[in-house]
Amino acid sequence: MTDQTPSAPITQDVLTIPRKLPQTGRTNIVGLTRPQLHEALIAAGTPERQARMRVGQVWQWVYHWGVRDFAAMTNLAKDYRALLAEHFEIVLPELVTRQISRDGTRKYLVRIAGGHEVEVVYIPEEGRGTLCISSQVGCTLTCSFCHTGTQKLVRNLTPAEIVGQVMLARDDLGEWPVQGAPKDETRLVSNIVLMGMGEPLYNFENVRDAMKVVMDGEGLSLSRRRITLSTSGVVPEIARTAQEIGCLLAVSFHATTDEVRDRLVPINRRWNIATLLEALRDYPRLSNSERITFEYVMLDGVNDSDADARRLVKLIQGIPAKINLIPFNEWPGAPYRRSSPERIRAFADIIYKAGYASPIRTPRGEDIMAACGQLKSATERGRKTRAQIEAEAS
Ligand code: SAH
Ligand code: SF4
Repeated sequence: MTDQTPSAPITQDVLTIPRKLPQTGRTNIVGLTRPQLHEALIAAGTPERQARMRVGQVWQWVYHWGVRDFAAMTNLAKDYRALLAEHFEIVLPELVTRQISRDGTRKYLVRIAGGHEVEVVYIPEEGRGTLCISSQVGCTLTCSFCHTGTQKLVRNLTPAEIVGQVMLARDDLGEWPVQGAPKDETRLVSNIVLMGMGEPLYNFENVRDAMKVVMDGEGLSLSRRRITLSTSGVVPEIARTAQEIGCLLAVSFHATTDEVRDRLVPINRRWNIATLLEALRDYPRLSNSERITFEYVMLDGVNDSDADARRLVKLIQGIPAKINLIPFNEWPGAPYRRSSPERIRAFADIIYKAGYASPIRTPRGEDIMAACGQLKSATERGRKTRAQIEAEAS
């Protein structure tokens, strides 16, 4: 099938946005790992033997109580609060807009240093709430069905910007506990999925450090089993994800032959299906985690036949897995259509009969373009010329 040989590059011709350094000279506490904060507190004049305790105290204020002002950290001596205020700050990215869908889904547009934007989506469900966060502005990869993959501006988010997305959502949902009030165990943000903009495994260290803060009992305190990282298949980083983060893994599988996957998820040309599956076989053991989620976007006439369903279950044989079928979410100019509900059902049945859970993901927040794969900075939505983008990036 030579006419279907992919010609698009695996990564696009992107402009990396330089990261503007903060001007204040103070260190942002948000997103620092424990050892980093420990070291920074000592450098600022905290006696070494106190530093460990101070890290715990400061973390509790910042991540448990949601305090943004050192003056409010009332269990610290006044002069120590002053020392902190002199050397540190507690800064989140800026919330620009919030849209609320008919179905309750919330989409936040968040501005990071340098003026660029990412989107964050909150999805309330019965008994839980999932926050879909971004790891990059845009994405360097070029999956042909994904709106984010058409955005030319790319920059890795810092740990502060990743953790900050979670904190902003808690601000908006009014989720910080009130001192003295009865303890409330319900969590509005109970789960986090790294399924927003960007390829998290192309920003590995920052994502890892951010998740360390999120998972720490004195940090945002979400269990690693409530965090799911989705990757398009950056094979060399998969074992590291297991070892250094230990969260749940989802993989954007989307096709059952290399020929089709090459077109849909071009990174497949670097690491093909067989190589990817090999890395996935080791994941649950290495991370001590549960099943891997295989994400599968349903594209009409492209990857949705009965034969595809049968090949899929055969391929993943032996891997503890669940298959998440995602009806394709359209975006302006998208080159595909969503498979019909009957087709999706028939596909799901084959998978179910083979013994796998095969939930069909209900598109959420479509009316506000918040569904999977629809995220793209509002400012980038209208196609711009390269010159325009360059002018803005500089
Ligand atoms: N870059 C990572 C995570 C972000 S995408 C990854 O690719 O896994 C989150 C999920 O949404 C992925 O499975 C992605 O393939 C899927 N997706 C992208 N565009 C989509 C669209 N238009 N409709 C449905 N799902 C889409
Ligand atoms: Fe990037 Fe994921 Fe979109 Fe592919 S699907 S372009 S990896 S965000």
